Amino acid sequence: MADDSCAHISAIHDVKHAKKRECVECVKIGASWVHLRTCQTCGLTHCCDSSPNRHASKHARASSHPVVASAEPGERWLYCFPDDAFAEY
Ligand SMILES: [Zn+2]
Ligand SMILES: [Zn+2]
Ligand SMILES: [Zn+2]
Repeated sequence: MADDSCAHISAIHDVKHAKKRECVECVKIGASWVHLRTCQTCGLTHCCDSSPNRHASKHARASSHPVVASAEPGERWLYCFPDDAFAEY
């Protein structure tokens, strides 16, 4: 991991990937999303902050799960919400 990433990102050694390419909250309410992020604490996949419901950041705040990975094909990066830290892997 990059040296300038936060302690949360540095602690991640195996990146969790999306089991399904859908937001687990949006599918319940029939909403749509823009991009997907996978929580690195519990492995659930949620929608990004460009999506109408921003479930990834809501989940990070509500459950104190700090780090997500992009679930978009070809993207290999991690983001920590509390530290606003970003790292490619
Ligand atoms: Zn962090
Ligand atoms: Zn969503
Ligand atoms: Zn989580």
